Amino acid sequence: MSDVTPLGAATLLRAPKVLLHDHLDGGLRPATVVELAEATGYDALPTTDVEALGRWFREAADSGSLVSYLETFAHTCGVMQTEEALVRVAAEAVEDLAADGVVYAELRYAPELFVERGLSLDAVVEAVQTGIDEGTQRVAAAGGAIKVGTLLCAMRQHARALEIAELAVRHRDAGVAGFDIAGPEDGFPPTRNLDAFEYLRQNNAHFTIHAGEAFGLPSIWEAIQYCGAERLGHGVRIVEDIKTDSDGTVHLGRLASYVRDRRIPLEICPTSNVQTGTVASFAEHPIAQLARLHFRVTVNTDNRLMSGCTMTSEFTALATTFGFGLDDLRWFTINAMKSAFLDFDARLSLINDVIKPGYAALA
Ligand SMILES: [Zn+2]
Repeated sequence: MSDVTPLGAATLLRAPKVLLHDHLDGGLRPATVVELAEATGYDALPTTDVEALGRWFREAADSGSLVSYLETFAHTCGVMQTEEALVRVAAEAVEDLAADGVVYAELRYAPELFVERGLSLDAVVEAVQTGIDEGTQRVAAAGGAIKVGTLLCAMRQHARALEIAELAVRHRDAGVAGFDIAGPEDGFPPTRNLDAFEYLRQNNAHFTIHAGEAFGLPSIWEAIQYCGAERLGHGVRIVEDIKTDSDGTVHLGRLASYVRDRRIPLEICPTSNVQTGTVASFAEHPIAQLARLHFRVTVNTDNRLMSGCTMTSEFTALATTFGFGLDDLRWFTINAMKSAFLDFDARLSLINDVIKPGYAALA
């Protein structure tokens, strides 16, 4: 690692950051949840005290119980069932990311979770895009700059993946950058949705797949070799295919070699992995090993509300825990930018005109 001095959060706040894995329904401001519940007549919140609610989200997600973890999303999705709510949540997400020093982000959400009060899938996508446009304009008006695309998720358990893939392609010239499948890995392998992935490939569309979080190597293998995923959502359990001898010699299995050789990006979400029990503790997170072995590692937040995290707090924790220096954080950022579902010219210009000068200014 290039610099063993822990970096201050103030410096890391200013560092340009790129975020590829962030759920729109996992990043609401607690005050917004309360206000939207009031405005839309949603009466199931555990509390309407803003501070207590923020704490409740983190604790419920932290409790180790899947039931309470999923309950947190029932509340955020519960207040996101109208166009106005979707516009507001998306606009605020863009503002919050810009305030966190994020220069490019892909926000993901499952449109099928926001149709309970009669919105069509297309109306959901249009409302979120309106919010992203508004947020981007507000950031620009305040002198900042951020570019945000979206990924449409299909829920593994709902068997609507082809329909959502078609929705993503239909809106790809209006802000939708790609597709993902989310939801329970166990019992719902990505191969259930082969028709969706085939459709996306035939339409030259981009997609990532949540794999290698709750489930191990078979899930990663299917996502890449059956479905054709360009990136892995988490993918952290690829370490199960890496063995280290007592003398320190490292051996990569065939799948780990393939992932590394093909430069398949890992959308790693350190704090979230600890919360869901994918890894035992932050200090034991394999991100340092994967970075040392030069996997295409990217750093992500997953769910900012439930994890009480930001890109700045993740970078700060990584610098403090593993001794990552600015060069390492710049490497994660450029890895993420290279892996974005954005056209090549735009990626290159963000790397050369924003990210590299941004880090140079901090050094
Ligand atoms: Zn996720």
